[in-house]
Amino acid sequence: MTTTTNDIRSRFLEFFERNGHEIVSSSPLVPRNDPTLLFTNAGMVQFKNVFTGAESRPYSRAVTSQKCVRAGGKHNDLENVGYTARHHTFFEMLGNFSFGDYFKERAIELAWELVTKEFGLPKDRLLATVYHEDDHAYDLWRRIAGLPEDRIIRIPTSDNFWAMGDTGPCGPCSEIFFDHGENVPGGPPGSADEDGDRFIEIWNLVFMQFEQMAGRERVELPKPSIDTGMGLERIAAVLQGKHDNYDIDLMRSLIEASAEASGTDPDGSHAVSHRVIADHLRATSFLIADGVLPSNEGRGYVLRRIMRRGMRHAHMLGARDPLLWRLVPALVKQMGTAFPELNRAQALVEETLKLEETRFKDTLGRGLKLLEDEVSRLGEGQPLPGEVAFKLYDTFGFPLDLTQDILRGRNLSVDVAGYEAAMERQREAARRSWSGSGEAATEALWFTLRDKHGATEFLGYETETAEGIV
Ligand code: ATP
Ligand code: MG
Ligand code: MG
Ligand code: MG
Repeated sequence: MTTTTNDIRSRFLEFFERNGHEIVSSSPLVPRNDPTLLFTNAGMVQFKNVFTGAESRPYSRAVTSQKCVRAGGKHNDLENVGYTARHHTFFEMLGNFSFGDYFKERAIELAWELVTKEFGLPKDRLLATVYHEDDHAYDLWRRIAGLPEDRIIRIPTSDNFWAMGDTGPCGPCSEIFFDHGENVPGGPPGSADEDGDRFIEIWNLVFMQFEQMAGRERVELPKPSIDTGMGLERIAAVLQGKHDNYDIDLMRSLIEASAEASGTDPDGSHAVSHRVIADHLRATSFLIADGVLPSNEGRGYVLRRIMRRGMRHAHMLGARDPLLWRLVPALVKQMGTAFPELNRAQALVEETLKLEETRFKDTLGRGLKLLEDEVSRLGEGQPLPGEVAFKLYDTFGFPLDLTQDILRGRNLSVDVAGYEAAMERQREAARRSWSGSGEAATEALWFTLRDKHGATEFLGYETETAEGIV
């Protein structure tokens, strides 16, 4: 029997607990003290103030499995879902942390012991990257792991240099990659076709070594720290002998639930729709469980966009009645033990999904029809006029990215500038008359109120920090 995703999570937590780490629960997807960050997108988010020294904890080593959403903001993987083998909008990031305790050498030792001994991965399928100037990390990979020189790759870009923000803790990082074998297209990290899925990044180790001061000065931290992130679904794929995250036990059970509820084949022509539905079901359910509700602005609008993309795929499966809400029990069964908040919120999640789906159903069908008509009129290589994309948004509730996603499958695009111009005209009109009934009018009202009273908590999300948050 292969190890389940639930087992792998436990084994990771227990391994680090045995090595003196405190098991800390995942923090919510809505960051507690950070109104500028859209969603928790990495394990370190809940520890930001511990790393800067603003907050102290009764432990100096921690281990977590953190719920993450990367949709919207700078870390946006929404466009990757359904296209790559390795991206989700919602995923779990396993991580071990040292707050001024151990540093680079011990972090690499622990990581290597976990992947090769605890998880038993063959050494010749593993590669490591280091920041090009980080000779120390390079030497440690040689010595501790015994990796040959051609499998320690120096990367000169910000992919291997992490920073919390324009100022504050920062440092080089090392990423561990697994080679899924010659049959999968793609090149090693740093090569021209590194975006393929052959070499998949499984773990990112950040060595918080410096403090970036205002200006260009960078000083050594007196007590350097460690922050790591490993995608649970990616390591599960490796350990279950799968190449694709969507083939692991957990995702597979959701895909099968989607196939069963819609009476379609899980692997046939609808495979992409099932993957998108499985992914969006998780993101949606966990966001609602953490208190986000669909709305027309901010976090709620990101949630609504994810839901509506999922609903479009349910429609493609031929579902005539709301479908996503019926899959919630399958998700609760898989993940409710590790995340009891999902159990508690089950009824709310189901009701919210059902209501959104029921409301969107009519306009979805009519909007799709309008889109078909318009597309059939397009000349070769011509983008969809902005006016049409705007009408789909305003009258039929199609977020722009939904229209773009539908067209992407056919190599078509939207005239985004035209869309924005149409939006602006409508806002102006609504401001003048305080009338109108579409989405843009509602939004204009909100903008007018905000202009009048000033933004309150919401000041725009995440001017987000530097590359490669982990
Ligand atoms: P990639 O380059 O593959 O997009 P990343 O460098 O953006 O990954 P990090 O920010 O380093 O990812 O996050 C730490 C780890 O979390 C990664 O090594 C990976 O295992 C996992 N991870 C990141 N993004 C996703 C995602 N969208 N879905 C699933 N796992 C992810
Ligand atoms: Mg990424
Ligand atoms: Mg990466
Ligand atoms: Mg990374």
